[in-house]
Amino acid sequence: MGYDTLFFDGSNDSHMIATALAEGRVILTKDTQIMRRRVVTSGRLKAILILSDEPEQQVHQVIDTLKLDCQFRPFTICLECNQPLVEKSKQQVEDLVPPYVFQTQNQYMECPSCHRIYWRGTHWQAMTRKLEHFMEG
Ligand SMILES: [Zn+2]
Repeated sequence: MGYDTLFFDGSNDSHMIATALAEGRVILTKDTQIMRRRVVTSGRLKAILILSDEPEQQVHQVIDTLKLDCQFRPFTICLECNQPLVEKSKQQVEDLVPPYVFQTQNQYMECPSCHRIYWRGTHWQAMTRKLEHFMEG
């Protein structure tokens, strides 16, 4: 969806909270303990208690709560490092992607940080359809 995100595995809540405060992040959690912390109840740190176990419902809740619906910039940043992706020509990625991908895809993006290559394959198509569905409400 084009949003800068980090994943924390839950082993160190203090580190997550410190990072969120320092970087102006919103915490998405299913942990009610975090919601009871003073830093959250005081409003100093924004946190959302995720209610559903179902990923699509979870995305809906976040979109609704943060009013994200018209701010999507899908597939513009790296899934791993949040860096803005850079367009690459087909020739530039010839040795970097599987042969069947090279034969069937014409548009490529590269992360300038981890050099991961992205292309508009079946995953991209499926995600685009889902995002369009979300935007329609
Ligand atoms: Zn990257």
